[in-house]
Amino acid sequence: MLFPPPSGPPPDDTGQLVCSARGCRADGVWALRWNNPKLHTPDRRKTWLACEDHRTSLSEFLSLRGFLREVVEVGAGPAGPPDNGS
Ligand SMILES: [Zn+2]
Repeated sequence: MLFPPPSGPPPDDTGQLVCSARGCRADGVWALRWNNPKLHTPDRRKTWLACEDHRTSLSEFLSLRGFLREVVEVGAGPAGPPDNGS
């Protein structure tokens, strides 16, 4: 783990479209697409899902580190399936 997640790791193994905030089981309605240039090639995108309540806190966490690339509404665009794996 090279940086602390906002409140715990995203649910990598569930494959469910739930919010990535720890303990939150709400539907993830926002996909926060991010890239860590130290780990990922420039075209790589990781995706965290966020509910309405956690969209701001999760996106601020990523943007403060310069990781956040875009925020898209789940199912509203070409975001594709979430990439919560490594
Ligand atoms: Zn949430």
